[in-house]
Amino acid sequence: MWITFIIKTMIVKSAADMLLNKTYEEVWHRGEGYADEGRVIMVRVNDQKVEALVEGTNGYVVSLRFVANGIRRHCSCPYPKDICKHMVAVAILWDEMRGMKRPSDREIESFTIAPASVSGQSIDALFNNPLRADLDAIRVLVEYTAFPSRRKQTHAKLPKHPKREATRILKEQFQG
Ligand SMILES: [Zn+2]
Repeated sequence: MWITFIIKTMIVKSAADMLLNKTYEEVWHRGEGYADEGRVIMVRVNDQKVEALVEGTNGYVVSLRFVANGIRRHCSCPYPKDICKHMVAVAILWDEMRGMKRPSDREIESFTIAPASVSGQSIDALFNNPLRADLDAIRVLVEYTAFPSRRKQTHAKLPKHPKREATRILKEQFQG
């Protein structure tokens, strides 16, 4: 029993765990949504790699494959960052097919890249006219810049240039 458990733990790798700390929190949640909405069609699956079609704005082809030092991944969508919501959706379902639970909300919050929950427009407004600024924009910018220690390093990485970063993320993550 114990031996089986230990061997299984060593062999069964979690794709979700490997992607989590490279993914924006918002992108992760959108990927979960895609997984739950039945947008993923598995094409070829085994313990080492998966190829799938994901139905988004268009159909996209996702491939994930375990390699010696991590996970190799590709998606045909235009999202320019490393991990897109289509890869997240496929990783979650692939793990579940192999008997693994998806990351909890707590794990998602702790390990993903910090959220950018304000719009680029509201950040611009904040810089141009602070008196009329969106309070959410202030909250996020303060979290990013003034009190990094308060976040207790829960996120994998904080952007160096919050305004530029948040604007770019928002533009990108709603494409596709
Ligand atoms: Zn994609």
